[in-house]
Amino acid sequence: MMAPDKSSTRASLTACNTLGFAATARTFSEPRSVAEARRQILDSRAADERLVVIGGGSNLVLLPWLDAHVMRPAFEAMTITPAADGRTATVSVEAGKRWHALVMELATAGWWGYENLALIPGCCGAAPIQNIGAYGVELADHLLRLEVMSLEDGSTRWLSREECAFGYRDSLFKGSLEHRVLITRLEFVVTREATPQLAYGDLAQRVNAATPQGQAITPLSVANAVIATRSEKLPDPAVLGNAGSFFKNPQLAADEARELLAHHPTLPHYPQADGSVKLAAGWLIDQCGLKGARRGHVGVHDRQALVLVHFGGGQVSELLALAQEVRESVHARFGVWLEQEPRVLGEMAATPS
Ligand SMILES: Cc1cc2nc3c(=O)[nH]c(=O)nc-3n(C[C@H](O)[C@H](O)[C@H](O)COP(=O)(O)OP(=O)(O)OC[C@H]3O[C@@H](n4cnc5c(N)ncnc54)[C@H](O)[C@@H]3O)c2cc1C
Repeated sequence: MMAPDKSSTRASLTACNTLGFAATARTFSEPRSVAEARRQILDSRAADERLVVIGGGSNLVLLPWLDAHVMRPAFEAMTITPAADGRTATVSVEAGKRWHALVMELATAGWWGYENLALIPGCCGAAPIQNIGAYGVELADHLLRLEVMSLEDGSTRWLSREECAFGYRDSLFKGSLEHRVLITRLEFVVTREATPQLAYGDLAQRVNAATPQGQAITPLSVANAVIATRSEKLPDPAVLGNAGSFFKNPQLAADEARELLAHHPTLPHYPQADGSVKLAAGWLIDQCGLKGARRGHVGVHDRQALVLVHFGGGQVSELLALAQEVRESVHARFGVWLEQEPRVLGEMAATPS
């Protein structure tokens, strides 16, 4: 992970967000332990500074100026504790660990659980914020509990999975605990029992093709199939600035969805357990003729319309204008408002000198 340029009173965050827009914070730190994070929180409180926690910056839209102390946890210890029968294990991982590295270490060691979430950028501490998910698996599926530290007074407590109120790209950390805690560590369960989740897309086909006859599917073969699929569809942020899916797939009540589908029978849709229907936002955007559209330094990705990209040298205002154009176009054509997935942090005001 690249360290930002630092000065005592200003820190560039340009290398800290995968969209690659220029942004500056008042101050920046990378605590190397939970205890150091607590000390820094208490110092910030004493100085009456606003505190903002970031991870890999892969789900953020940074505005030019953050009048805050930005903290990026750099503690990343991980332990795997097998149960007595060796069939399951409890994994404890600290916030700063890279999510993809965690997934690959577990899959390589033959533990089933999060292999479908390979190649999702960012850090473990951010994974609960939007309950990361892909290919039919979500963080919440295997999480036991997580530890949070109050940004008010540095106190810590554990929250169970139920207390985190996870939903589709949603959690308590987007609600009543938004910007109020630092997630310090996660605890979850992995298993030796083969539990491949291959129902999404062509995952089953890819995994079977890569598995020699007579050999069992492994978590690593699933992770590698996910990596291959994602690499074909999604732009690599190291090459082309992006924050993954820019919009959530809208979820409609059954009767609203029925009406929309009567007019657009080819609209890809997924009935949910609660009776609602999830719609493919990428398809809606594509139907508006926006896939591959370019507006100055930003655009809609030409292979995945859900992803907005920054070609470099642009302003965040261009991206926000494009996001608005997409939302309005989809609303005008389908009557559905798309909800933005990445979180916006900071202010448009120029950096004070
Ligand atoms: C190419 C690409 C593909 C992606 N694919 C997926 C996908 O398939 N599924 C998916 O769900 N997401 C996906 N994402 C989005 C993103 O990777 C995830 O949301 C990821 O969890 C964000 O992690 P981060 O460390 O980069 O968080 P950041 O972007 O740094 O932060 C996101 C939010 O979390 C908060 N935060 C970060 N760390 C902490 C912490 N320790 N404690 C408290 N708050 C914290 C920040 O304040 C911010 O509000 C993708 C992004 C990209 C660029």
